Amino acid sequence: MVLKAHAIYTVAMRFRIFAALTFASLLFVAARGQTDRVKELAPGVFFWQGDPDQRQPANCTWIIFKDYVLVIDANFPWGARDILHTIQKTTNKPIRFVFDTHYHGDHAFGNSIFTDAGASIICSEACAGELRTKGAKGFENWKDAAHPLTGAHFEPATITFTDAMVFDDGAHRVEITRVGPGHSKGDSVAYLPSEKILVTGDLCVTWSAGNNVADADADYENWLRALDRMDKWDVKTVIPGHGTPAAQSALHAQREYLADMLSQVRTGKRAGKSADQLASGIDLSKHGNLAASKAGNATSIRAMYKRL
Ligand SMILES: [Zn+2]
Repeated sequence: MVLKAHAIYTVAMRFRIFAALTFASLLFVAARGQTDRVKELAPGVFFWQGDPDQRQPANCTWIIFKDYVLVIDANFPWGARDILHTIQKTTNKPIRFVFDTHYHGDHAFGNSIFTDAGASIICSEACAGELRTKGAKGFENWKDAAHPLTGAHFEPATITFTDAMVFDDGAHRVEITRVGPGHSKGDSVAYLPSEKILVTGDLCVTWSAGNNVADADADYENWLRALDRMDKWDVKTVIPGHGTPAAQSALHAQREYLADMLSQVRTGKRAGKSADQLASGIDLSKHGNLAASKAGNATSIRAMYKRL
């Protein structure tokens, strides 16, 4: 009986300790700003999941250096506000730099939310040029009444690089490289060699809508070369522009999907088929989730047809 009572006592104690530890870890997670949407992928490296339902489709990553925070992709203003608050829950260090992988609104229209908080915007020179022209025009002509740009203003990049830029304080290293033109002219990616994390912008996505290939300066051949180039890097985690983080194989899946679409559009166009015929006739189903949206594929096929 004594033993039994002792056993019950021990179980009860263990449960209490377990509950206390679980609660403590929950508190810790909450204190570090983690939610279903936010994950600390490695010490000081945070990922914020984009949400198309809230028109915050693009992902965001931030790295906490010794003296400052570097943010990758500014989202739309309403997404940027959420990101800013979330970052402030993970650190009290200043957000000093925001790197836009490319100029598109879902990655750059939130720039001013961060510059108002003291940050400077960085992107490749090619991206900065696109931002000042196509980006500014898109901002000015914004028409989504449900998601107004109220409270934000157009903010260009004030720090640029031609081919590459490195942030390294001994604790963290982030290598930014321009690998475009691909999805746009100025596409650049960020690689964290210690954590083997690659942040690709929209050169790689993992969601079911596939890529948007409609940019006036998209370059499909070089896009494929860029994917091949990154596939040679030592990558454990790919953070895509849209969709959930994935293994390195996401780069290859992306390459196959785009290469297949490109080859089928090219062959069809040469054979005299119309954009409509190709949009409804091309079968990309072997690419699984990446090609799951028929409407998304059709839009890309039409855009590609027009540009080839
Ligand atoms: Zn995007």
